[in-house]
Amino acid sequence: MSEDKKSTTIEKIVSLCKRRGFIFPSSEIYGGFAAVYDFGTYGVELENNIKKEWWKYMVQIREDIIGLDSSIFMSPKVWEASGHVSGFSDPLTECKQCHLRLRVDHLLEDAGIVADEKMSEEEINKIFDENKAKIKCPVCIASNFSEVKKFNLLVKSNLGNFTEDWSKGPVYLRGETCQGIYVNYKNVVNSSRVKIPFGIAQIGKAFRNEITARQFIFRTREFEQMEMQYFTNPEQEMVEYEKLRQYRWQYYTKNLGFKEENLKWHKHDNLVFYAKEAYDIEYNYPFGFKELEGVHARGNYDLTQHTKFSGKELSYVDPFTGEKYIPHIIESSVGVGRTMLAAICDAYTEEEINGEKRIVLKFKPNLAPVKVAVFPLMKNKPELVVKAKEIYDSLKMQFMCEFDDNGNIGKRYRRQDEIGTPYCVTVDFETLEDGAVTVRDRDTMEQKRIKIEELSSFLKENLK
Ligand code: ATP
Repeated sequence: MSEDKKSTTIEKIVSLCKRRGFIFPSSEIYGGFAAVYDFGTYGVELENNIKKEWWKYMVQIREDIIGLDSSIFMSPKVWEASGHVSGFSDPLTECKQCHLRLRVDHLLEDAGIVADEKMSEEEINKIFDENKAKIKCPVCIASNFSEVKKFNLLVKSNLGNFTEDWSKGPVYLRGETCQGIYVNYKNVVNSSRVKIPFGIAQIGKAFRNEITARQFIFRTREFEQMEMQYFTNPEQEMVEYEKLRQYRWQYYTKNLGFKEENLKWHKHDNLVFYAKEAYDIEYNYPFGFKELEGVHARGNYDLTQHTKFSGKELSYVDPFTGEKYIPHIIESSVGVGRTMLAAICDAYTEEEINGEKRIVLKFKPNLAPVKVAVFPLMKNKPELVVKAKEIYDSLKMQFMCEFDDNGNIGKRYRRQDEIGTPYCVTVDFETLEDGAVTVRDRDTMEQKRIKIEELSSFLKENLK
């Protein structure tokens, strides 16, 4: 058996995701809708498992972090206060030859030049001008670009309200979920027993008018974020920040089982003026190491801005010392889609077995969309089908299961391997005699006989 990880191209991942019902382009029968995707049968299971794991790790097992589900629509003032209306923009250029629109910070980064989307239009234009000769369009290889323009990423809506003041201007679909956390900070403090340091976590949709939305689900215009904002005493901000960085690293390596060599820290050199420190966790996608998650120390910028714009007092009074301050915030922010893509890439394995290629998604069991598949050895033997159905019916109450009697066993194994099912259970003629089934392990392909009454505890033990 040989393994070849280097052969994982994005084309292979896209093809597997489509073929096996993980991910479909949105509105495909109408020619698709750029940078928006739908999750199919196994995609939605994987997505739910990722969200479940995140919630368990960030909320359930943390006494100091509580959950929230704020709305997508918010007062437009929120986005003025946050700086998104004036400053949430990416630097854009157009290749004058093939008219492809490109993000200038990405072009510069790819050429090894330090740049950041947060730089002003003048700053980035200057750097771009100085380095233009070294930069080529990734598609047509020409080196002829238009002037850099900043492009606002907020998605506008015409949500109607005909009486309020704000109806004169646009309303936005939220560009990030954390603003819902900041504006609810006081509600949470007043309605729960949290004391600083504490965190508020939420999972929800965000929308951005991304300019260069390529690379499959890595960068989409509608996506889901999992964000946790941790409120600290100013003195403790950096201590808590270090703890959070370690905690998040452990999540990827231990909880999701990602290979450590596929992850790395990237320190931001160009910090926005209020930030204390900013690191990203990058994943080694088929197109290179790219941001998976941001772990940032944001100072007291967010609550200060909302205090200014709302006129509401957002400081905190320490119940023990009486000290009054505006909390400093550290955050962990990651996309569900980027985690999904990383999980699929990390699990994707091609093996050669007796001259045949086997594609298998070696997910950690907690992420696998289907945990167990149950087969009757033959479809046309009712006694096997009935027994297999019986086992399936009892297991499905505890695990996400699939019953499959299509094609031969080899084909069924291949299908389950490609969706990453850790165990396949086969009912054969011996089962009717000895009450045992054949359990096949996805990764080792080893098969062993297990008594039906021991099946549930075996799976519980091995699906952790
Ligand atoms: P990038 O530099 O890649 O545009 P960002 O720094 O703007 O990302 P943040 O605003 O920090 O990203 O968002 C936090 C997280 O949300 C990111 O680390 C990423 O996982 C996810 N995310 C952001 N934009 C998108 C998008 N367009 N599609 C999918 N996920 C996204």
